[in-house]
Amino acid sequence: RYFSSEPSLQPDSTEEIGFKGHSMLAPFTAGWQSTDVHPLVIDRSEGAYAYDINGKKYIDALAGLWCTALGGNEPRLVKAATDQLNKLPFYHSFWNRTTKPSLDLANDILNMFTAREMGKVFFTNSGSEANDSQVKLVWYYNNALGRPKKKKFIARSKSYHGSTLIAASLSGLPALHQKFDLPAPFVLHTDCPHHWRFHLPDETEEEFSTRLANNLENLILKEGPETIAAFIAEPVMGAGGVIPPPKTYFEKIQVVLKKYDILLIADEVITAFGRLGTMFGCDMYNIKPDLVSIAKALSSAYMPIGAILVSPEITDVIHSQSNKLGSFAHGFTYSGHPVSCAVAIEALKIYKERNITEHVNKIAPRFQEGIKAFSGSPIIGETRGLGLILGTEFVDNKSPNDPFPAEWGVGSIFGAECEKRGMLIRVAGDSIMLSPPLIMTPGEVEEIVSKYGEALKGTEERIAELKSQ
Ligand code: PMP
Repeated sequence: RYFSSEPSLQPDSTEEIGFKGHSMLAPFTAGWQSTDVHPLVIDRSEGAYAYDINGKKYIDALAGLWCTALGGNEPRLVKAATDQLNKLPFYHSFWNRTTKPSLDLANDILNMFTAREMGKVFFTNSGSEANDSQVKLVWYYNNALGRPKKKKFIARSKSYHGSTLIAASLSGLPALHQKFDLPAPFVLHTDCPHHWRFHLPDETEEEFSTRLANNLENLILKEGPETIAAFIAEPVMGAGGVIPPPKTYFEKIQVVLKKYDILLIADEVITAFGRLGTMFGCDMYNIKPDLVSIAKALSSAYMPIGAILVSPEITDVIHSQSNKLGSFAHGFTYSGHPVSCAVAIEALKIYKERNITEHVNKIAPRFQEGIKAFSGSPIIGETRGLGLILGTEFVDNKSPNDPFPAEWGVGSIFGAECEKRGMLIRVAGDSIMLSPPLIMTPGEVEEIVSKYGEALKGTEERIAELKSQ
């Protein structure tokens, strides 16, 4: 049920109707779950709320899958889609043919990204396709420069970059690799920048960041800098458990990458468009990337679309070498789909008009402080986050080294307690994550804080029972 293949103790709810043993091979769902347990069937949404097929109301504290930034039923997005569907439902962008919405959106994205100047935008349908495209683009670029050996990628443990072959390889989550014969051999993984879990005794965040930057440099030297093409990182790790970087991390990592002429790819699929309280994660951490991946909030998820932003240095090479390179033979039928682009143009307009970052900064302090106030709970190891993204990790004895028995499914217990009370969240192992719509009202923030507190109490009681058995 919770996008995790781990069995949960969650009982099959009697409130749910139908669809047991349905015909879908369900993503991130165990075979037994999709066959033996009724799925939660969401039927409609309104603002920050979603309703299931029985009419039960939930506050959608994950904004779908970290993506419906503007919540449900935003009429302007619906109108943008229907207007475009009526005018031109589809035309492609191959062979220098294209549509006006895709040209306009590419421009809007470049204007909005101010962490550094970017050159051009390539459109995809998803975050995974964006990251796959990054790898192909970087290889193409290094081939154009006559550096055929410079092809390896470095990503981080616990990162999530998507689930296609290459994006899953880049990801640093064992479940995405085991049973799929991944990662691909050109991908290397370096440290997860999670201070609470991985710091040495008495090591400050700054010292921890220095050690991680040194480890990265040692890995590059061991492999040979002439073989390392790029480093990919989420500004704040999302699906790995919401892990903001420790102090000075990106500053130190960027020095190492520059030294060895290694490209930096910022995977902003979750962090772009206001989630952290800045328009992009790169603004929050002073990241100067060569390439950026975006998706999700780009269209507030009303239509599937992703994109990569490409630095002028890279687009200049592609331009100047085009006689030798021929066509950039990469793209999808739906790259720059006009309906997706029309919706995304409207979403970006709304973010600007409603000053979305200001709104996030207004409501985020209460969201963060309200939930962090429960951190004293004996079952919570750490609650972390910023802006409108937050994760809690459940452990015994408040120690990162004392996990609860996996078969208890503590994260899933908390998820079920939330669901019972009408709140949808994300569970992965014993980490739980929140990433609500950016348009929440202060009242809705209070509702999330209060439901989190009640679900925590229910989880503490269940753990006490399990301990006494
Ligand atoms: N990158 C990051 C940081 C993500 O969080 C995700 C999706 N959660 C992806 C890439 C993959 O995006 P998609 O599911 O659209 O392929």
